[in-house]
Parts: sequence; C-alpha cells; structure tokens
Amino acid sequence: LYVDHPLGAGQTVPLDRDQAHYLFGVMRMGAGDGLSLFNGRDGEWHAEVAEAGKRGGSLRAVAQTRPLALPPDLWLLFAPIKKARTDFIVEKAAEMGARRICPVQTDFTNSDRIRQDRLQAHAVEAAEQCGGTFVPSVEGLEKLGALLDRWPAERRLMFCDEARVGQAVPDVAGPSGAQGGAGDGPWAILIGPEGGFSPAERERLHALPQAKVVSLGPRILRADTAAVAAMTLWQLRHGD
Ligand code: SAM
Repeated sequence: LYVDHPLGAGQTVPLDRDQAHYLFGVMRMGAGDGLSLFNGRDGEWHAEVAEAGKRGGSLRAVAQTRPLALPPDLWLLFAPIKKARTDFIVEKAAEMGARRICPVQTDFTNSDRIRQDRLQAHAVEAAEQCGGTFVPSVEGLEKLGALLDRWPAERRLMFCDEARVGQAVPDVAGPSGAQGGAGDGPWAILIGPEGGFSPAERERLHALPQAKVVSLGPRILRADTAAVAAMTLWQLRHGD
C-alpha cells in the first residue's frame, strides 16, 4: 500500500477514508493484521494495523523489508494526447522505471491542460502494481521551448524524430564514444504528439548538443506506442 507519510520503525501512519475503506471494508483486515507499505522514499516496510475504523484508522510501521530501489536517472518528456492515452503513457513510464515524467507542450500539442494530480495518482497505482519502492514525479505541463532553454548540460536527450522513420534503429547510447554509453549520466527521452514536431522544433532539437536523434523503426508509431518502444530501447542499454 502506498502512503504519503514518513516511514520508520514504530512510526504511526494515519489512514484516510479511502484507505480505511479499502483495507477494512474491501480487504477485511483488522487490528494486528500485517501488510507492506511504501511511500516512494523510505523503501518497503512491514506494518501492522493499529486501529481499524469505518472512516479512518492507523497503521504502525514495524521493520523495513526492502531498501529504496531508485531507478536510473531517466526522464520521459511527452506531449499529452487524448486522456486515456496520456494515462497509459504515465502508467507505463512508472512501470518501466522513469525517474520523472514531464508532459510538454509542443507546437502541435492538442491539449493545453493536464490533470497533474490524476496523472500522479496513476503513477502511484502503477508503482504499487509492479511492487516498486519508488514513485516517479509527474510534473506540470511546460512548454518544450522553455524546458530546452534551461536544459542541463550533462543530461543527454534521446529525441525520437518521426522524420527518421525507416532508418536503422540506433544503438542508443552505445558502449562508448562521443554519444555516450551506459552509465554515462542522466538521460531523457522525448516523444512528440500525434501531429509530430514542427520544423522549428526539429531544427532546435537537432542543434542541441545533448540530443541524440533516433529512429524507432520502419513504421510511424502512435505516440503511446513510441513512448514504450523508446523506453524499452533505452533500457536495453542501461538496464534496471
Ligand atoms: N504525425 C507524424 C507523422 O505523420 O510523421 C507522426 C507523429 S507520431 C504519431 C508521435 C511521436 O512518436 C513522434 O513525434 C515521435 O516522437 C514518435 N515516433 C513515432 N514513430 C517514430 C519513428 N518511427 N521514429 C522515431 N520517432 C517516432
């Protein structure tokens, strides 16, 4: 169970109404029963139900069962698309171990608003689902240009450019050399919207020294498929 509360030996963790309903109503747990907790920061903890009520209750953290397993320093930048597909991208990025999920507004992005809290909740659910101890942060929507204006010098950017369709899928971040290799520092992946990138964006991204421009194969993939394909390709090199 994910809790937004510090975890430590003997720590009391209050439960809100939804959590109490889930544990005591749906799961039929009662005082003294054990369960696993994580908060995305302190690893996984064995806890016991201290107090079970209809509208609330509390748990007591007993002992850490796993330390925090931080994924590699990978950000996923993507242009939000339709609601269900945006949810899918966030869910998959959390499952695949992205450290940070950044919705970006590009020239051809269709939506100018996101529900950051809802997307963050999807990331929590995905982390819970796959037994992770870490939850990636979902950032607010930001203009791609603004993000590139302050792009960190050390962070490489895997720019998935649909104009490269049909070209060979590169060995992303090959073992060594100027393009960098596994373990050579932080990375980000950039996926565009359904309409792709504008010529101005493409020009700017091609000129960014940290960018590695990649093809994802012989066909144009839908943005949600492209996000999963790109993360898989990156993971193949960097593991974890
Ligand atoms: N409307 C664009 C077109 O027809 O060329 C396609 C955009 S595609 C649906 C959405 C995003 O997925 C792209 O901006 C790119 O980031 C990524 N993508 C999809 N297929 C790709 C490919 N074969 N190579 C590189 N990137 C790809």
